[in-house]
Amino acid sequence: MYIPKTLTEAVRYYQDEQVCINAVAELRWPDGKPVCPKCGVAEGERKHYWLATQKRWKCYACRKQFSVKVNSLFEDSPLSLDKWLIALWMLCNCKNGVSSYEISRELGIAQKSAWHLLHRLRSALQAPEDDKIGGNGEIVEMDETFIGGKVKNMHKSRKPKGPGVSGRPVAGTAKTIVVGMLHRNGRVKAEVVVDRTKEVLHSLVAKHIAPGSQLMSDEWGGYKGVDLQHAIINHAEEYVRGLVHTNGIENFWSLLKRGLGGTYVSVEPFHLFRYIDEQAFRYEHRATKDKPYTNADRFAIALTQIAGKRLTWKDLTGKEEGSF
Ligand SMILES: [Zn+2]
Repeated sequence: MYIPKTLTEAVRYYQDEQVCINAVAELRWPDGKPVCPKCGVAEGERKHYWLATQKRWKCYACRKQFSVKVNSLFEDSPLSLDKWLIALWMLCNCKNGVSSYEISRELGIAQKSAWHLLHRLRSALQAPEDDKIGGNGEIVEMDETFIGGKVKNMHKSRKPKGPGVSGRPVAGTAKTIVVGMLHRNGRVKAEVVVDRTKEVLHSLVAKHIAPGSQLMSDEWGGYKGVDLQHAIINHAEEYVRGLVHTNGIENFWSLLKRGLGGTYVSVEPFHLFRYIDEQAFRYEHRATKDKPYTNADRFAIALTQIAGKRLTWKDLTGKEEGSF
């Protein structure tokens, strides 16, 4: 399948709705053979009927109709596929992320719609919950960082509130704590947490790091006693001691903060995890000597992850109205 290499090419190529439909179908279904979401019958020897005017299939088995957007992040959206694809392209490939204002200008849609669209696309960039990094004596670096400014400088409407315990700011400030774990082969896991106590850090180790890994962290007491081989670099004394350092995760923090500080001027703490997932996706799929990922690769990988996910306006904001 042809995948455009630059944004300009992508904009030109995805002007054609049929091209978009084919691209999405090919990436979300094996061999591009549509599976009926109602009865689960896949297209094989027998094809589903293509209804050209409605741009939908009619299942040959249960005779229900479905579109390429069904059961995916694009479902129920009146936005045309070309807009979705261009926005996904930009999100995968702009190093510091892309703001809802840029998307709004680029696609000619309202900023609020662009904001929702970007959040939906970010959930396509989320790595599966259950995959752990490291193992086999591999090195995993772990570190915490603080993100955000002071509460008194925030507009009242932005002051941290909202659902969930995670994403709560540090008392008296608008700073949010993020803990990250980085395998030096390029995988990274990061989560917004309530605090950086031993209990929290140890549970993240158990959740994200495979047994048998070597952990490297700074001297923070919360790491003590982890069930892994553990090397500590004391930052009061030195930053690197042979292989023992946390430079990889610190590099990830600076990328994350550059994106948040520049592109996403102010992010509410309870949406922060979405931006972290986005940055982690770009980081894991950045071009390195061993894995020369391209723009087209990142885009194709993200597009295979759109299926089976939904994110409604209500999920995002807790409000009923206002979706697009
Ligand atoms: Zn069917």
